[in-house]
Amino acid sequence: MVPPNDEKGSRDNVIEQISCAVKDAWDDNIDGIGIGTPGVVDNNGAVFESPNLPQWHNFNVKEVFEKRFNKNVVVENDANSITWGEYLFGAGKGTRTIVCLTLGTGLGGGVVINGKLLRGSIYSAAELGHMPVNYKGRKCGCGARGCIEAYVGRDYIIKSAIRKIKMGKKSILTEMVRNLSELTPKIISDAYQKGDKLAEEVWIEMATALGAFLAGLVNILNPDRIILAGGIAQAGEILFQTVRKTIQERSMKVLSQTVEVVPAGLGNDAGIVSGAALVFQQ
Ligand SMILES: [Zn+2]
Repeated sequence: MVPPNDEKGSRDNVIEQISCAVKDAWDDNIDGIGIGTPGVVDNNGAVFESPNLPQWHNFNVKEVFEKRFNKNVVVENDANSITWGEYLFGAGKGTRTIVCLTLGTGLGGGVVINGKLLRGSIYSAAELGHMPVNYKGRKCGCGARGCIEAYVGRDYIIKSAIRKIKMGKKSILTEMVRNLSELTPKIISDAYQKGDKLAEEVWIEMATALGAFLAGLVNILNPDRIILAGGIAQAGEILFQTVRKTIQERSMKVLSQTVEVVPAGLGNDAGIVSGAALVFQQ
């Protein structure tokens, strides 16, 4: 599928956009159609709680497209879909058990265990961003407290840099933007590349929180590989090195020895390849 142009678009608009994409790629011999969507997706292909597509709440996407195209349709939460795509065709190729995290505004994720996408009882499991890591911690966008997302999401990274600057620490970040409200993770990453100590501190704190959280997942799931996807994963070596080091320090020794932490492999085509990968699930 293609990402909708207008995320707040009406239900009909989004259906039309997806239909156009399907028609563009149409071949009578296709096995089916895979759709990755924001929100919680149940086993029957219905979508719930999709904040960016409010009109998709309680809406059976699978049924609509099966009627329209008379093909098997698989609908999956977008983070689960990316995880499955990475598993089949990307950085997870050749493994059996992976954790895939998408680092951006929020923290999305998915898990493949022994070659199967972890789906839970009825709804999509693996809402990894909302794992509480500090039960007295800061408020998260989901309404709960201390979720890992509130320590590694985009806003947190920016706020952390601003807090340090306001504490009087020196940084070239103040010369890189006119106003601190213009800061982005990319700019903080650029500052680090230029040797900025404050930017380095921001990344090490963020990546240590992420690594500690992943150490817990390593203990629970014993994955072959952990894949970091999404814009913020492009912060590069400082992020990967710190995450790897923290996992080594904090998870069970024997489990931490074999796990690899790697960048995503699908790049810009991740959405499209993953949508197709969904069809090859059973
Ligand atoms: Zn949360």
